[in-house]
Order: sequence, then structure tokens, then C-alpha cells
Amino acid sequence: MNQRMDIGTTPFTHSCTSDGVTPAFEAVRSLVAGHLAVATVEIRLTDAAWQDLCTTTGPTPTQIILPGTAAARVAAAGRTQHCRDLWADPSLGDPHLAAMGGRFWAATPLPATDGTALGVLEVSHPTPRDLTQAERTHLETCAEIIASQLRLARAGAGIDPVSRLPNRRCFFDDMDQLGRTHPGEPGLLALVDLARPDELARMLGIIGSHRIETLVREDAAALRSTLGDRAQIYHVGTTRFALLAPPGTDHSVFTALIANDLARGALRAQIMFSTTCTAGLAPVVFGEATGSELLRRAQSAVDDARRRAVPLGLYTAEQDTAYRRAFTILADLPAALVAPDQLRLAFQPRLELATGRCIGVEALLRWTHPELGDIPPGEFIPLTERTIMARPLTRWVLEAALARLAHWQRAGLDLNLSINISPANLQEPDFAGYVLHTLAQHGLPAAVLELEITESTLLAENAAALRQLTSLSDAGIRIAIDDFGTGYSSLAYLQRLPADVVKIDQSFIRALGETGASQARHRTLVTAMINLSHDLGYRVVAEGIETQDIADMLAGLGCDEVQGYHFGRPMPASAFLIWHAGQPHPGPRTAPEPGLDPELRGASPHSATAAAALACAGRTPRTAQNATT
Ligand code: C2E
Ligand code: CA
Ligand code: CA
Repeated sequence: MNQRMDIGTTPFTHSCTSDGVTPAFEAVRSLVAGHLAVATVEIRLTDAAWQDLCTTTGPTPTQIILPGTAAARVAAAGRTQHCRDLWADPSLGDPHLAAMGGRFWAATPLPATDGTALGVLEVSHPTPRDLTQAERTHLETCAEIIASQLRLARAGAGIDPVSRLPNRRCFFDDMDQLGRTHPGEPGLLALVDLARPDELARMLGIIGSHRIETLVREDAAALRSTLGDRAQIYHVGTTRFALLAPPGTDHSVFTALIANDLARGALRAQIMFSTTCTAGLAPVVFGEATGSELLRRAQSAVDDARRRAVPLGLYTAEQDTAYRRAFTILADLPAALVAPDQLRLAFQPRLELATGRCIGVEALLRWTHPELGDIPPGEFIPLTERTIMARPLTRWVLEAALARLAHWQRAGLDLNLSINISPANLQEPDFAGYVLHTLAQHGLPAAVLELEITESTLLAENAAALRQLTSLSDAGIRIAIDDFGTGYSSLAYLQRLPADVVKIDQSFIRALGETGASQARHRTLVTAMINLSHDLGYRVVAEGIETQDIADMLAGLGCDEVQGYHFGRPMPASAFLIWHAGQPHPGPRTAPEPGLDPELRGASPHSATAAAALACAGRTPRTAQNATT
């Protein structure tokens, strides 16, 4: 039985189940047939009313009103109509009526509370006759009886069969109603989610849907007894409950109720789902947003709380904007992967410090979204890294970068290539095979490729990841530990991994540019990193070098390779060629030339060469701008 309460002055009447609707319809039909002495009596419902009825009572002895029929016109007009003889008066123009075999016909609407019709009550008889006033009144009275049963059944359709709580549709109806009765008034909505979708899926596999329904029912009862009449509860998703504070509720009291009783306290202890029951709060202004939009906001607060691993989240417009942006980014990435003009690669030079020779490039992904514009990889990559999207994304980068490298090699450029891979790639059982196959397709040896994996990823990975790394390494592909120093791992631990290169994180390199004690400390730190890495057999790369002073310092410390804005920014392939043509051999580049396009700054001081190359290519420096860092 429904547990609804009154919210302020709004009467909620959904207090009856639909039991008995079908026998009641049959009784009314016999009553009409007997009283009017007609051969046929039909109850015809609108599509929506019919569906509501079927979901609560199962198949019913009613029909759907077909569009264009006389019944549809009666429902639309909202008044009784009749015809003495259909054969003599074809003005109703309804082929279905003739099919009924009748000549006398009458129909009256089944009124809904809002003045529309739920359907019609329709009678016909094979001989012509008139409709008396008494018969008309009888027909309309019977229609009212049917309609009242239907209205109750409809209310029953708003009840969740598992929890016996008002359901999602009911929530939408109530929010519409509150929008009309309390427009502009503030309210508060809480969404309680017992389990994350992945947890629910796992539990389904382990304990089955029947047991889950039992748990949900018990948790619904716990919610009801804890909240009493302090909130209207709706069951809006398998494991989700919406709690609506009645208009006029003190919001601080309701928030405290949710935060203490629910998110942390007694109720949490009673919740049978041992998973991550999380609540989200969303402020409401009645009439300002639809029920579905409000649920979305509360869900966004739940998701935010989950991301921060706290039991309660509060919806804010800013956080919602970020959430929506993240959602758009993830949702639009598949299209970007096949679009001709959204994704592209930028290439940042890597130089051997001792000779100043550019010995390779790191391929870095760039995305220009059709609406959001340029999205930094630091924003979209982390969103995809542990999702299924990591697979097609890395494949896109690998294909594009290897195709470019093969092209360069054919043109006589002797370069290595580094690409970044995601944690999820190492969980792909065929990843190593795929990489080797792609190299072979482009006629490239394994030794040209280096795969960069962040230190934190390596720490978290498991036996499957280690297998992939070992296969890749055994085939001759170099493995680099990226962002080294940020993951709190010891080199002794990392040594168990088949890695060849350590890339010291930019933060340590940048700190070398500081002054005083801080610089001295970082210098000691970087010195130790380089020495220890060398002792353990790693080649050391420093990235994020922005000044000649730091480059000199690193040369003094024996660092093997460097990468940074000081030498060259990530740039489109065409700009990289120009940069490369302007390189002196040997000797790393010096200060960037002010005013030159950021992508091309690394080409200075040989900007005459670069400018000549640009002129040959018919380009201005600005054309290369889109691959800024
Ligand atoms: P990362 O792998 O550590 O790449 C180096 C980042 O540092 C790049 O940022 C590069 O532009 C920037 N950088 C290089 N030198 C300097 C410098 O001297 N100063 C400063 N301030 N920055 C410098 P970017 O391109 O924005 O990429 C950010 C991160 O996004 C990368 O960090 C990498 O983790 C990820 N990423 C980029 N492309 C890909 C990709 O194709 N696949 C994957 N899985 N991750 C990628
Ligand atoms: Ca990298
Ligand atoms: Ca890095």
C-alpha cells in the first residue's frame, strides 16, 4: 500500500491499488447493456490510459481509441454524441463503426480530473433508435464510474511493485503539481543511491535479482521509518530513492537529517547494501525545472560525492557544468575518432644532451571539439584512461604516429618515437601483439618505438599488465616510466618492471630554476634520481626544460636526454620538419625568439632557416598555431 503523505496543501490521493478494476468494468458494461438494451458496449481508452491500466491490472477487456474514429472525436470534444442510424447518416464518417455491425450508436467521454478524457464508453445496436434523455444520463453516470476506477488504477500505476513506494513517474507528476501549487517556492531534493551501477551489476551476478529486490525492499522500509513524514520518498531507480522535503521545510534541518541520519549515521548502518550508499542534495525552486532535470542534478551531486569518496554531495551549478562537460567529452570522443578534422598529433622533440642532436619525438594528442574548441589532453585523457575508450584512442595515436614516422624515415630522418599509453591498454590481452603488428605494417623495427607509462599506472597494475610489458620489452620496444618522482615508488620496486627509460617529472626540473635553499634541495634530489637511475641501468630523460640554465645544470648532472619548451614545443608534423631543418648539429638550442608563434619558437635562433622553410611551404607562422602546448 502506498505510503504517501500530503505535501503542504497539495492533496496526494494515490492511496488505492487497482485491484478489482477489471470485474468493475465488466459489471458496468452489463449494466449499460441491460439498461439501454444494446447489443454492444465497449470501453475504449486513450493510449496512455490503456498502458497505465495494463501495467497495473494486466490485460484488460478494453480497447484503444484509434485515431480518426468517432470515439476519438468524442474524447477530444469531451461530450456525449449519438447517431440514430449510421446507415442513413454517414456524417460520422467512421468505417470502424460500420464494422461493428451496428446502426444505432452513442458514445460518452470517460473524464480525467483535468478535463481531458481517459477514453470513451461506446454503445451500438443493429436496429436504428433514438437516445432518450434518461438513457443519456445513465450512460454518462456509468462513464463516471468507469472513469473513477481508471483514475484510481492510474494512481496505482505510480507505485513501484518492489518497494510499494511512489515511483519515478509519480515523482514527475508531483513535481509538476508542486510547480503549479507552489511556484517559485524553495524546496530541497535528496537522492539516495544504494549502490554504484557496476556494484549493482556485480551483485546481480552473485546474489541474483530476487535477493536484490528483497534488499531494496528492506532498505526502502528503513528509509521510510527513519524519515517518517519529514520527507516524501519516491523509488526512482532500481537502487535509487528521491527524498523531497515538503514546501516550507527548514532546509538546514533537512540537510542535517540527510547528512547525519542518512549519509553517516543510524540509517547507513541499517542499509543492507554494504556497497557505497551515497546521497546527493539539490536545491529546488518549484516550477523552475522539471522533475527529470531535478533528478539529474541530484544524481550529479551523487556522482560528485562518489568521485570525492564522501557520503554526501551538494549540487552546485559550477560542479554541474564541469560534470556536463566531462560527460560531453566522453560522449563525443567516439565521433572524434572517426572525424577527419578533430584529432591530430603534435610532436615534441627529444634531444640527446651530450650532442644536442634531436634523436626522437614524443607524440602528443590534440583535440579540437566542434563546439568546445581545443580541449587539453590533460583534461580529456584522464577521463578516458580507465575506460574502454582508452583502447581506440591509443590505437588512433599509434596508427597516426607510426604512419608519420614511417614517412619521415623514408624521407631520411632518423628519429625515434615515444607515445603515451593508458593503464587500460595494459589490460588488453592482445595489446603487445597489436603494437608489433602495427609496427610491421609500417615497415618499422621495434627499436624505434618507446611506450611511456606513468609511474602511478605501473604501481597499480597487475600480473596481466606485467605480461604485456614483458612481451613488448622482449620484442625490443623500449618502456619509459613517465612522470617519475610523482608516484612515491622506489626505484627498487620499479626495477622489477621491464623498463629502460626514466623520465623525471617536470615539477622537479622546473624547481631547479628556483633560488636559494629550494633550488639546492631539488638539485640534490634530481642528482640522486639521475645517479640512482644510472646505477640501475636506466637511461634518464628530463622534461619540462624551459631555460638554458636548467639545460646546463642537467648536462652537468649527466642527464642523457632532454625535452622542453626551451628546445621545442609540441608542434604539428609540418612545423616539426621546419624546426628540424633549422637544427644545428651538434648543440642543443638556446633561447626562444620572442614574437614567433609558440609552436615554432623552438626553431630559433636559426629562424632564418625556419622562415625560409615556411616561405617554401607557403605558410605563415600562425598556421601552425593550433598545436600549442
Ligand atoms: P606528458 O606525457 O608528461 O607529456 C608532457 C607534457 O608536458 C605535454 O603536455 C607537453 O606539452 C608538456 N611540456 C613539454 N615540455 C614542457 C615545458 O618545457 N614546459 C611546460 N610547461 N610543459 C611542457 P600536453 O601535451 O598538454 O599533455 C599532457 C599530458 O596528456 C601528457 O603528459 C600525457 O600524460 C597526456 N597525453 C598527451 N597525449 C597523449 C596520448 O596520445 N595518449 C595518452 N595516453 N596520454 C596523452
Ligand atoms: Ca609522456
Ligand atoms: Ca611526463
